[in-house]
Amino acid sequence: MSKKFDVVVIGAGPAGYVAAIRAAQLGLKTACIDKMVDKSGKPTLGGTCLNVGCIPSKALLDSSWKYHEAKDAFDIHGISTGDVSMNVDTMIGRKDQIVKNLTGGVGALFKANGVESLKGKGKLLANKQVEFTPLEGEVETIDAEHVLLCTGSSPINIPVAPIDNDVIVDSTGALEFTEVPKRLGVIGAGVIGLELGSVWARLGSEVVCLEAQENFLFMMDQQIAKEAKKTFTSQGIDIRLGARVTGSKLNGKEVEVTYENTKGESENIVFDKLIVCVGRRPYTDGLLSEDSGVQLDERGFIYVNEHCETGVPGVYACGDVVRGPMLAHKGSEEGVMVAERIAGQKPEINYDIIPSVIYTHPEIAAVGQTEEQVKSSGIDYNVGLFPFAASGRAMAANEAKGTVKMIADAKTDRILGCHIIGPSAADLTQQIAIAMEFGATAEDIGMIVASHPTLSETIKEAALAVNGHAIHVANRKRRK
Ligand code: FAD
Ligand code: AMP
Repeated sequence: MSKKFDVVVIGAGPAGYVAAIRAAQLGLKTACIDKMVDKSGKPTLGGTCLNVGCIPSKALLDSSWKYHEAKDAFDIHGISTGDVSMNVDTMIGRKDQIVKNLTGGVGALFKANGVESLKGKGKLLANKQVEFTPLEGEVETIDAEHVLLCTGSSPINIPVAPIDNDVIVDSTGALEFTEVPKRLGVIGAGVIGLELGSVWARLGSEVVCLEAQENFLFMMDQQIAKEAKKTFTSQGIDIRLGARVTGSKLNGKEVEVTYENTKGESENIVFDKLIVCVGRRPYTDGLLSEDSGVQLDERGFIYVNEHCETGVPGVYACGDVVRGPMLAHKGSEEGVMVAERIAGQKPEINYDIIPSVIYTHPEIAAVGQTEEQVKSSGIDYNVGLFPFAASGRAMAANEAKGTVKMIADAKTDRILGCHIIGPSAADLTQQIAIAMEFGATAEDIGMIVASHPTLSETIKEAALAVNGHAIHVANRKRRK
């Protein structure tokens, strides 16, 4: 007799594993299927995020930043460090250990909550049946009342630079270099490319980012993006915009990359390693039987409505495999929403307030609309700016670079967006995300007492600047 569950989740990334835990908490008999194996071939939970995404990249960003500080940034405090060196194996080993702890933690949470963890491949059949092909053992068919498809995304490969996992790698390979490449090319100056490029630039690589778009970080507020470009350039990262890669030629241990520049001319450049970071695609390979009834949209995402329901009653999809930003926290929130809706609750997600972060140094973080989006919507708005150069706390920490930008509706003063490049930008932006959820105005933020001296004072001052009341900077209020 086939196994039967209230909820079967396919995919144990941040969308799937969180959904499974929440469903089990709500008393639903839940199984979570995942086929991922780690470097040594052992089954692992946590998906892209924990294994080859958010967490390992942040581990390397933190190690490389500490190395950079010890080598080049302690002098100003009067600390001499002498010769500083980096043991890349140790850095990668530390990253692997963090991944192991966290992925093992998901297994422990599954046990604690009574989620049955099934290691292998899941495929949705008709009538909410799931074909389960275990990593070891016989194929079986599982009956489910509800199925959640949370199969995530995979890196986009481009034929002009095929991955060989030696000289040309994707984001996963870039987390595993055994030594610091002398000349490192990055195709795509997006979020992942900038983070990975920063890691290796700090460790001494000469990094060149080739980006097809002419606008840097085109999806971000362009004032902040401009400041970011200047900052990265000053850190030695060579960002070439309007550079569309058209070919690559492996030559032993190096690769010659050809790209077209803004004038349409062809240029060549040679690297010791090349990271291809040109985006990610929804991953549905082998997931759906022909008669499953689930539809994909024109870009290959599983088609869902605002409640993550597919067209098949009882079948849902969440995370990178559906529309919306490819962010771990977006997927997790969707997973929770679906589990709770299955249990009869009525949660909603406010897709307008999903913060996002680029974990470079300084960090770049955003929530809500960019100035470009507000402008094109035709709303009258005010902008408040506050530079970290005017923050005592930022100065004390030798982190006085960057800007807080707050955008508010000119009529209602409600905050429409906040964009920060600077120290702790991610955590500062989160404060504004909370405020926006409560419908706060810029005046509200300006009236809240901020401890002194803190970086939080910068968002208070930017909020005051929206209405021309900033204290610690000449007001640069802009009314549009
Ligand atoms: P995934 O994490 O991709 O998980 C999907 C899981 O489904 C995988 O384990 C896969 O093996 C499994 N699966 C697929 N098909 C099947 C099948 N048929 N049967 C069984 N199992 C299957 N996001 C952030 O928010 N912050 C960051 O700092 C950040 N940094 C990133 C850095 C890098 C280098 C990368 C690559 C990504 C980063 N992301 C970050 C994005 C983040 O990793 C994704 O948004 C997130 O992992 C998506 O979660 P998910 O659960 O939808 O899918
Ligand atoms: P993201 O989607 O944030 O991961 O960014 C991926 C980036 O890669 C985008 O900014 C794309 O413009 C860029 N890109 C895609 N294809 C190419 C290419 N052939 N050459 C250079 N850049 C590219």
